[in-house]
Amino acid sequence: MTRPAEPAGHEVPAMRPAEPVAWPHGKSAAASFTFDVDAESAVLFGNPAAAASRLSVMSHQAYGPLTGLPRLLRILAEHRVRATFFVPGYTAHRHPGAVRAIADGGHEIAHHGYLHESLAEVDEAAEAEILDRGLAALAEVAGVRPVGYRAPMWELTYDSPRLLAERGFLYDSSLMDADVPYELDAGGATSIVEIPVHWGLDDWEQYCYLPDISGSGLIEDPAKAVSMWRGEFEALRREGGCFVLTNHPFLSGRPARAAALEGLIEHVAGCTDVWLAPLGDIARHVRGLALKPRAIPKPELRGSPP
Ligand SMILES: [Zn+2]
Repeated sequence: MTRPAEPAGHEVPAMRPAEPVAWPHGKSAAASFTFDVDAESAVLFGNPAAAASRLSVMSHQAYGPLTGLPRLLRILAEHRVRATFFVPGYTAHRHPGAVRAIADGGHEIAHHGYLHESLAEVDEAAEAEILDRGLAALAEVAGVRPVGYRAPMWELTYDSPRLLAERGFLYDSSLMDADVPYELDAGGATSIVEIPVHWGLDDWEQYCYLPDISGSGLIEDPAKAVSMWRGEFEALRREGGCFVLTNHPFLSGRPARAAALEGLIEHVAGCTDVWLAPLGDIARHVRGLALKPRAIPKPELRGSPP
C-alpha cells in the first residue's frame, strides 16, 4: 500500500501509544479510588461574588467536606483501602479539619488548583501562581507537599507538564489518551508520570445537578452508575490496565451513592489479581520502570480549510 506523501514543509512528530505496564507483586492490573474535594471552589471560580451569595448552592457544595467526606473515610477505613484525595487550596483553607482528617486516615493528599480555576484560557505565569498558591495552602493546613496533581476539570495545558516538573511533582492525572500510566515528556530532559482518567469514570456526569450551574436535571440511579464503572473495571482488569475512578464527596458522599460505591470498593479490594493503591504509589512504581517519555505535540494548524 502506498502512503500519501506528507506535504512539503510540514514535519509532523510521530505520536506513539503508551506501552503495556508490568504491575508489581505479580498483579495483572491496577486500580485506584480517587476523590476530588472541590466543595465550594467548584462553583466559586467562575463568578465568585455571584456564587458566594447563593446560600443553597454553597450548602450543596459544603455537603462534601461536612457530611459526605466523613462517610467516605469511614467506608475506606472499614475496607482498609487507601485512596487519593485531590484538594483545592481553597478547600483546605475553608475546611481545614476535613482536610486534616483525610491525612489522618492515611490517604494521599494531592493538588487540585487553588479555587478550582479553569486553565483553558490562563497564561503560563497565572498557572504557575495558582500552582504555588495551592502548594502553600496544603502545606499550611495539612503539612503536606503533594507529589500528585490533577487539573480542575482535567483541563491540562501544554505548559502544565513543565511547570509541574519544575516544582518536583511526580505525576499528573488529567489526560485521556491511554489505559495505562506512562511517562509524559515535560520538556528538556524532564518528564512526569501521567495516570489517565476518563469522563465515563467520573461521578459528576452521573449525579451533578445544580440549576443554572451544572447538569441537565437527570440524576442517575447509583446502581446504574456503579454498574457502568464496574464494567470498565472488569474490562481494564482483563487488559492489564489501570482503573482510576473519580468521585466527589459532595456527590458520591450521599447515602445511597456511598453505599453503592462501597459495594464496588469491596469488590475491587477483593480481586487478588488487581493492585489497589493510591495514585502516588502507582506513579512511583511507573517511575521505577524507566519508560521512555512520550511527547504529545500540539496539533499543527495548517490554515483555513478550502
Ligand atoms: Zn475538581
